[in-house]
Amino acid sequence: VKERGRNGMQMFRSEMADEARDKLGRIEELRRAIELEEFVVYYQPQTSVATGRITSVEALVRWQHPYHGLLAPDRFIPLAEETGLIVAIGEIVLRKACRQAMEWQRRGLPLRVAVNVSARQFLEATLVDQVASVLADTGLSAEWLELEITESLIMQDAKRAVERMHELKVLGMSLSIDDFGTGYSSLSTLKNFPISRLKIDRSFIREIPHDTSDMAITSAIVSLGRILGLEIVAEGVETNEQAEFLAQSGCDIFQGYLISRPLHAAGLDALFAAHSSS
Ligand code: C2E
Ligand code: CA
Ligand code: CA
Ligand code: CA
Repeated sequence: VKERGRNGMQMFRSEMADEARDKLGRIEELRRAIELEEFVVYYQPQTSVATGRITSVEALVRWQHPYHGLLAPDRFIPLAEETGLIVAIGEIVLRKACRQAMEWQRRGLPLRVAVNVSARQFLEATLVDQVASVLADTGLSAEWLELEITESLIMQDAKRAVERMHELKVLGMSLSIDDFGTGYSSLSTLKNFPISRLKIDRSFIREIPHDTSDMAITSAIVSLGRILGLEIVAEGVETNEQAEFLAQSGCDIFQGYLISRPLHAAGLDALFAAHSSS
């Protein structure tokens, strides 16, 4: 029994060593990906409910991996966040997105671009300087940039988050709260945030029109946004029924597969043509 136990323990140890080696390998790969800029940015359009026009896009990162193909963010963002490498990846995404927004403007397409900011990035002391220098380098005017910050991140330390938001606002960009409805903000904290938009979390949209409490919550979020003078974005809009309900509730902006999946910039051109003349 003792012998078996020892073998078991050795097995356990060697599995842990394998796992640690594997993780180190993955971190190394991520480092290399940053160096070689293997990240590509996809863009998902956001349309105005009132006009049907594309007003803005959300930048969503993917990793063009040399062996594994195009990787979705959930395959590498958690490790990037854990190791702090997200700060470098975030800068790559921000730079590419701002450059792309400039390119669209040159072609007569004035689109605001929304970029996700992770917890690690948001709390990093260098964030404001980083954003300022990307704007300066790319020549993009800050009014065309929006930063998305999740509600749960903000609520970790609301006081500090508000300070950071004000620092960013000085640069002239707009801020939105992502995944709203999952993070327990109160009306009184929300009112102090210098934000322009609330993005209703996709989990509330998914079961519309089958889940009546999700529908009630969605309507309540829209009313709350109205009271605070915010624009309301519904994300994950997949069906006409959802769109109809959300439009009736008073949502301002739609984002979701119903309009388009996230696409690389070139893939969006046809969509721009369809949505600008209408
Ligand atoms: P998110 O910020 O909530 O982004 C929305 C996600 O929902 C995207 O997934 C988008 O493709 C997906 N989505 C949009 N419309 C629909 C729909 O109608 N149906 C369904 N089922 N899904 C829809 P994606 O691109 O895989 O990104 C996942 C998450 O990864 C993002 O969630 C965000 O938290 C994170 N992420 C993506 N890009 C970045 C980035 O550049 N920086 C950071 N820090 N995080 C990022
Ligand atoms: Ca987002
Ligand atoms: Ca979201
Ligand atoms: Ca999300």
